[in-house]
Amino acid sequence: MPSVSLLRLLLCPLALLVGCTAPRRADPPPHAPGSWALAIHGGVGTLERSASSAEQQEYLDALRAALEEGRTRLARGESALDVCEAVVRALEDDPHFNAGRGAAFNEQGQHELDASIMDGSTLACGAVAGVRTVKNPISLARLVMERTNHVLLMGDGAEQFASMVGVERVENAWFDTEPRRRMLDEVLRERAATSATAPKTARASNYGTVGCVVLDREGRLAAATSTGGLTGKRWGRVGDSPIPGAGNYADRYAAISGTGTGEVFLRHQVAKSIAARMELAGESLQRAAHEVVHEVMRPGDGGVIGVDAAGRLLASYNTEGMYRGFANASGRFEVRIFE
Ligand code: ASP
Repeated sequence: MPSVSLLRLLLCPLALLVGCTAPRRADPPPHAPGSWALAIHGGVGTLERSASSAEQQEYLDALRAALEEGRTRLARGESALDVCEAVVRALEDDPHFNAGRGAAFNEQGQHELDASIMDGSTLACGAVAGVRTVKNPISLARLVMERTNHVLLMGDGAEQFASMVGVERVENAWFDTEPRRRMLDEVLRERAATSATAPKTARASNYGTVGCVVLDREGRLAAATSTGGLTGKRWGRVGDSPIPGAGNYADRYAAISGTGTGEVFLRHQVAKSIAARMELAGESLQRAAHEVVHEVMRPGDGGVIGVDAAGRLLASYNTEGMYRGFANASGRFEVRIFE
């Protein structure tokens, strides 16, 4: 029986003759030494365009504070992973956003939180799903990555791991906020009126999720995403945010964090698809994200933020708006909600 390498050797000239050589992978875009960049998002479940300017200002201020935290840390040389974790923690602690305090309620009036973090330079990742008492799920996700041989811990197992590693805990009701409670009431009322068991797609106001993608000064990429999930979700439902490749992904090409209907992100492996198009088809981050968000996903499904290895930043979404912010070493510092 000829060995595999012998077979390869024999077939190689044949492949060259018929023009079917192995696919070439594009190189990641080059990193300019010392440069850094980050993008953040606070979900696509934004205020209506008609919201008062005071309300819009509140959200912009909240985004600015998180972005400033990331900028300061990157400028002093912290790693992409550390920055992602710190920024997502700040967004989790801010009740404006659907992650940590201010998380959406499930249909039973409880909070089940999902989060994941990924290191693009090693493909190491950690995630937690359905945690109920962990104040900052993103930090627990990081500990799953660093202190276990696993990628994803869920439910009671994740809670027990949280006790083992000693992260800060809170009562489930600590995540409650009035606006989220009103959203749940609205969703349940509508559901009762239409006798539907669960909405197939969520309305924009039910979305949330926070995320951060970073290129650090050493050229490393990382992504982190954290969410309370969809308002009125079924108990036990897990979305895309804790699933590497779906709602969160980083490799040598790009770091991506998503927000929107998790089921769509899961089906299309949205975050990984974008990075894979860059690697295998040689597309730019901009082009790859546009194709996936506007050609694969449908209007209203959600969006992504991303950064590539050259520090190019992007937000692409098919909803009315997206809470987002961008900063880089060249002085860009910008937060936005709508176009
Ligand atoms: N993607 C999240 C989920 O489906 C929700 C969101 O981004 O708003 O859990």
